[in-house]
Amino acid sequence: MTAAHGPAGPDTPATPAPATPAPVGRAGDWVTRHSAPTTAARTAALVNVLAQDDPTPEAVAAVLRAYGEAHPVELTERDVARMRTAADLLREVFAAEHVDGAAAALDRLLREHAGPLRLTTHGGTGPWHPHLDRDDDAPWDEWLLASSCLALTVLVWNHQRPPGRTCASPTCRNVFVTQGPGPERRYCSRRCATRERVAAHRRRPGGPA
Ligand SMILES: [Zn+2]
Repeated sequence: MTAAHGPAGPDTPATPAPATPAPVGRAGDWVTRHSAPTTAARTAALVNVLAQDDPTPEAVAAVLRAYGEAHPVELTERDVARMRTAADLLREVFAAEHVDGAAAALDRLLREHAGPLRLTTHGGTGPWHPHLDRDDDAPWDEWLLASSCLALTVLVWNHQRPPGRTCASPTCRNVFVTQGPGPERRYCSRRCATRERVAAHRRRPGGPA
């Protein structure tokens, strides 16, 4: 939990944009990029890109690469369609208002979509890290659900609060990971926060028309 850089540093006020998440950084931070916070941030970025109208395999692959996927990313339209279904299932975790609801949603997903806990280095190309999919060649949707559930479970375990939220803006469907101390964020990005603040100001009696 000491990521010095990358999108998931606990002190970084993350402002996730769906299609262009911040790159993970130097190739050397191979431990950081397999950490639970980074994996959870990748989950949020993938859920967001997959929620766009008709996401292309290239757009999804770009997010995977931005989060340090070193292997060639070969995604088909069918993979993306199945990942969209997986992403919709994961939304339930981000939608939970309280830790009990997030835990119940995760519990259900783990029961239905995750295999036994195993460790892998992907053939020595990374640090030892846990996986809940069946093997390293599991389909992308199975990998997305299993890796996301694992990371979000660790965040619930560590912080005893919901691991993420859905943006409070009624015109935005983005999800984001909540972590670290400080005031709780309600919006996925500064852009959404500003837009809603302006809208609330306009709605006030006597405010600008
Ligand atoms: Zn938003």
